Amino acid sequence: MTQTLEPRVSEAETEPDAPTFGHFIGGEWRASGSGRTFESRDPADTRRVIGHFQAGDAADVAEAVRAAEQALPAWRATPAPKRGEILYRFGALMAQHKERLARAMTSEMGKVLAESRGDVQEGIDIAYLMAGEGRRMFGDTVPSELPDKWAMSIRQPIGVAGLITPWNFPMAIPCWKMMPALVTGNTVVLKPASDTPHCAVLLVELIHEAGFPPGTVNLVTGSGEEVGIPIVESPDVPVISFTGSNETGKRIAAIAARRLKRLSLELGGKNGIVVMDDADLDLAVDGIVWSAFGTTGQRCTACSRVIVLEPTADALLARLVEKTATLSLGPGSDPATDVGPLINAAAVEKVERYAGLARDEARIVIGGSPVNDRPGLEHGHFFEPTIVDGVRPMDRLGQDEIFGPLLSIIRVPDYDAAVTALNQTRYGLSSSIYTRDTNTAFRAMRDFETGIVYVNAGTIGAETHLPFGGWKGTGNGHREAGHAALDTYTEWKSIYVDYSGRLQRAQIDNQIDDQADEQDDDGRGAR
Ligand code: NDP
Repeated sequence: MTQTLEPRVSEAETEPDAPTFGHFIGGEWRASGSGRTFESRDPADTRRVIGHFQAGDAADVAEAVRAAEQALPAWRATPAPKRGEILYRFGALMAQHKERLARAMTSEMGKVLAESRGDVQEGIDIAYLMAGEGRRMFGDTVPSELPDKWAMSIRQPIGVAGLITPWNFPMAIPCWKMMPALVTGNTVVLKPASDTPHCAVLLVELIHEAGFPPGTVNLVTGSGEEVGIPIVESPDVPVISFTGSNETGKRIAAIAARRLKRLSLELGGKNGIVVMDDADLDLAVDGIVWSAFGTTGQRCTACSRVIVLEPTADALLARLVEKTATLSLGPGSDPATDVGPLINAAAVEKVERYAGLARDEARIVIGGSPVNDRPGLEHGHFFEPTIVDGVRPMDRLGQDEIFGPLLSIIRVPDYDAAVTALNQTRYGLSSSIYTRDTNTAFRAMRDFETGIVYVNAGTIGAETHLPFGGWKGTGNGHREAGHAALDTYTEWKSIYVDYSGRLQRAQIDNQIDDQADEQDDDGRGAR
């Protein structure tokens, strides 16, 4: 049995004594059985320790799963509208603590404060949306093909949901998964990314305060290998929802497939913006710069390819470079900052590798280097916003997800070539087109092979009440958000109630002609 820790409500941001936070299991804050911890640090200044977090292992996961199983019968028996009321309270608490949560997020994840506020807001939005689902959760009520018979379908919870989340939306994504899982009557074991455990702790504190019964939501911090894999392997966790890289997603999929688990995967993207000759270039430049360099390019929906018609390319590029040059790099907590740090040193190295490739195979027109010599930025993971011209669709720069502030420009002769280039990737999350021609816009809505398409807006900015997710290698067909998210966490049950008081045989007794024939044959009729 692990040691019980004092419940800890953090004042957010970095605390001077770098506190230690527990797992949250069965309604209690607990130390890991192994006693090991790991640190989380501020990516804008890695000298600042956010806190120490439990390095969980399979034994901690087993305890969390047990707690979630124990909480399941009472939670699934709680009427869905009542479950929704607790979700609503959680959303209201997030709204009340929005600024505190956003500042903590900026400290731990690095994104600029306005974007952290947006991340928290997404959590609030999904909490309210799913609270409402507690009073809807539509199934079908349809006529039966037989007389005196009732036909309907309802959703029911699957069981314990294992949720594995990334660092780039450290509050929105856990909420996107927890809220639909909970409102539909599942209980949860959450494993957040090891770069942002504090954000998860802060959320779970509010989960507790909102009144979710003990064991309904359990948090286990620690590595993918030691915590993530045991969750996926657990025979008592029948549904897994994962957001992260393709590599990890495929590994999880292989394990889940062997155990026939329900699995929702939201993986990478290589999102493109098509700019037509008739586009409003000022509008396009604003959308491209925001989509490419917002969140330092670390959004799954970030734009990393601009596919521009040749006659417009030089004019667009000149404006893009001009606007990019004005972006201010710095800590996300500084109101003057446009672009914050990358999440960690490995991310800087990855972007640097692709910048090297760009130098060899294409042409860097702005940026291209890590920044560690400017005053105030020496201890952070900063990289210049970078634009590369002359990229071909099948180049690695045009194909690989870089997940940083590096934008490739691909020049094409016409719309058809633009569509080919846009779709020539293994991913299919988000896309956009800038055009003033309605016909072209509608063709793009039809032709772009992505789960999200924007017209005259960048590739980012999804709203929580529509399905979110991608085609092809971006996922496995499931969706977050909207009522589509309920499909991940529920089993359908079709129910037939026969109140005729006699045997009725579907597909047999409903054929009017046969019925007549049978009546002729034996005088009794099929019924
Ligand atoms: P990872 O796949 O490395 O990690 C995601 C989560 O999975 C983390 O919690 C991580 O834990 C955990 N994990 C790592 N290895 C395993 C494993 N073997 N088994 C189980 N869990 C594991 O991705 P990143 O954190 O680097 O996130 C960036 C990636 O996520 C990008 O490729 C991005 O496109 C994608 N993403 C996709 C989104 C979408 O909706 N399509 C949204 C956001 C990101 P730990 O942190 O401890 O390693």
